[in-house]
Amino acid sequence: MIYLVIPCYNEQEVLADTNRKLLAMLVEIPVESRILYVDDGSTDNTWNIIQTLLQEKQETICGIRLAHNVGHQSALWAGMETCINRAEAIITIDADLQDDIRVIPRMVQDYLSGTDVVYGVRRERKTDTVFKRFTAQAFYWFMALMGCDTVYNHADFRLLSHRVAKALLCYQERNLYLRGLVPLLGFRTRKEYYNRQPRLMGTTKYSVRKMLALAFEGITSFSTRPVRLILFVGLFFIFVSVGVISWAIYSRMVGRTVEGWTSLLVSVWFLSGVLLVAIGIVGEYIGKIYMETKRRPRYTIMEKIFSILLLLSVSLNINSAEYLSMSEAIRMAQANSYEAMVARLSLMSQYWSYRSFRAELLPAVNMRSEE
Ligand code: UDP
Ligand code: MG
Repeated sequence: MIYLVIPCYNEQEVLADTNRKLLAMLVEIPVESRILYVDDGSTDNTWNIIQTLLQEKQETICGIRLAHNVGHQSALWAGMETCINRAEAIITIDADLQDDIRVIPRMVQDYLSGTDVVYGVRRERKTDTVFKRFTAQAFYWFMALMGCDTVYNHADFRLLSHRVAKALLCYQERNLYLRGLVPLLGFRTRKEYYNRQPRLMGTTKYSVRKMLALAFEGITSFSTRPVRLILFVGLFFIFVSVGVISWAIYSRMVGRTVEGWTSLLVSVWFLSGVLLVAIGIVGEYIGKIYMETKRRPRYTIMEKIFSILLLLSVSLNINSAEYLSMSEAIRMAQANSYEAMVARLSLMSQYWSYRSFRAELLPAVNMRSEE
């Protein structure tokens, strides 16, 4: 099951249209899918519309409503947390469909052929205003300078496989900047390019204030480099002060100075340098504390291989009557996490002889682990 997570903040104008387009598109993808609308504390009719949409197509649509406006990133998080246990992959996309939904079938295809993260990347920004284009460009440049790994021209339009979404949700931080977090995870990634459309209805929900807040969040959540800059500036001051001091003493010796000038000049340059270095050093420690408080996972395991006997012994302990076809199990084994595979194996073991198990499943599992 693939889930589409769609954050909506005062999107009453676009929702009906968006829903129609998405339903038409979902028919094309070969995996069962659901749409999950996240109403991010809208003050207009958004939630009523979501309820109506659900009544029209109950088997495909679901929704959650947040008690207050938490912002795009947290709304996405809420959506992902809600569907993670049921989703084999999650696609996030904005409600206004500025991102081309024709990319979604390609993303799903990538996922089915073993990719874990598919980034939707804008090919060009013709439809954005000059202001937005310029600020976005400046932002990516600055992020790179600050040492944060982001995907250029990628917003929050992406597909995450179950295991990646699960790994992402292990991050405990409250200051969310998903575009920075996802590249930290690793896994097999791919980019799909598209042209971004102008917003057809409604207005942007990203005010300049929200945009700046996001940019600031991105920088301060991922980098303590600004603090290190202070340290370097301090060191630079001390270095310069050596020159200034020699010059001041020389001037004093040849008698070109007024009383008190030398001592003031010397102390101003030298002490400023020392102070900045001191702040920088304290800052380094604060930066460390900051990173520690995030309690980010130290690593994420991508694959585990165990002997098949161990898997069998696990599987024999679990008892369930659900039936799964061999091909489905192999697909799960190839596409999904170890846990999902064990669960599947446990179900299968009751129906398959050990021989068919070896003949059909083992090659699939081995192929996966050799990659
Ligand atoms: N959004 C949200 N909460 C907010 C602001 C925006 O859930 O506080 C949603 C919004 O409904 C849309 C997506 O985030 O689905 C992106 O917003 P928008 O399209 O207005 O941003 P832009 O494309 O102009 O950057
Ligand atoms: Mg938009």
